[in-house]
Amino acid sequence: MTTPAKRPSSPKGKAQPTPAPTPAPVARTRASASTPARCTHATKTGRPCRAAVRPGGKFCALHDPALEGARMAARRRAAATTNAPRRRRTLPAGTATPDLGNSRDVVGYLSQLVGRVERGEIDVRVGNCVGQIVNVLLRALSQVETVERIAAIERAVAALPADQAAGVADELARVRAASESRQ
Ligand SMILES: [Zn+2]
Repeated sequence: MTTPAKRPSSPKGKAQPTPAPTPAPVARTRASASTPARCTHATKTGRPCRAAVRPGGKFCALHDPALEGARMAARRRAAATTNAPRRRRTLPAGTATPDLGNSRDVVGYLSQLVGRVERGEIDVRVGNCVGQIVNVLLRALSQVETVERIAAIERAVAALPADQAAGVADELARVRAASESRQ
């Protein structure tokens, strides 16, 4: 049987891959003078491996029992590389949660975070995530602090004599309304 010179195209117009020509059968058990010996190790599929044997051996480098020690060492080296300590993705368990009760705390924490990310103590992704959370926290704190400040001023105004308080109270009401509309 010969392979046709032209690839027949399927009815759908997609070129079908020409099947690889079947290799001529090689000596099945013993290597002949012209063909290199093939590894007879049974693979998972049950078929022999058929890779070229190591010089003077019966198996290829992957299956030669004499190389099992070297293969194990290689696997250990690969595992050591894989399991090598990587840059922390998270902080160690038991790391205290920072006290971020006010904007000043948050600003201090953020500037520390910058240094930790720069020094590679924290993975960049953790830095990004924490940065976003802290940013939300900072906005919330800023609103809480504004509300508290206004409340303090309102208390101070309430303590003023009525004639002095009147104008200030109107101004304060406008500030409070503006602050609440931003939330
Ligand atoms: Zn083999």
